[in-house]
Amino acid sequence: MPKRMTEKQKTGLPKRILIRKSDMVKVISGRDKGKTGRVLSVNRDAGKLLVEHVMLVKRHTRPNPAKQIKGGIAERESQIAVSSVMIVCSACGPVRIGHKVETSGGKAHRTRICRKCGAPLDKK
Ligand SMILES: [Zn+2]
Repeated sequence: MPKRMTEKQKTGLPKRILIRKSDMVKVISGRDKGKTGRVLSVNRDAGKLLVEHVMLVKRHTRPNPAKQIKGGIAERESQIAVSSVMIVCSACGPVRIGHKVETSGGKAHRTRICRKCGAPLDKK
């Protein structure tokens, strides 16, 4: 049996991911198709995300009183491929991400916008 490859070895270079932490995304394919959730973390090397309440897996944990860990079966999120989700615009639902470049004082500033209505997707 070959040793299990890491995600990085399988996929090569880190992906350019336009989705960021705390974005709202909708799952468009796979087991959890149709679900919406907040992005908890982004894994660029693997091209995957951790999304709240999406791709739940059951973890069987042993109790460890020293670490205050209760035993039993806990549900935890597992990673989902970036290609399986789309960012959610508050006005039009799942959309593709566009960019708007603003130049202020000679400095170009890129903000992510909704490709449908042009509303900004960055909160700040
Ligand atoms: Zn929109």
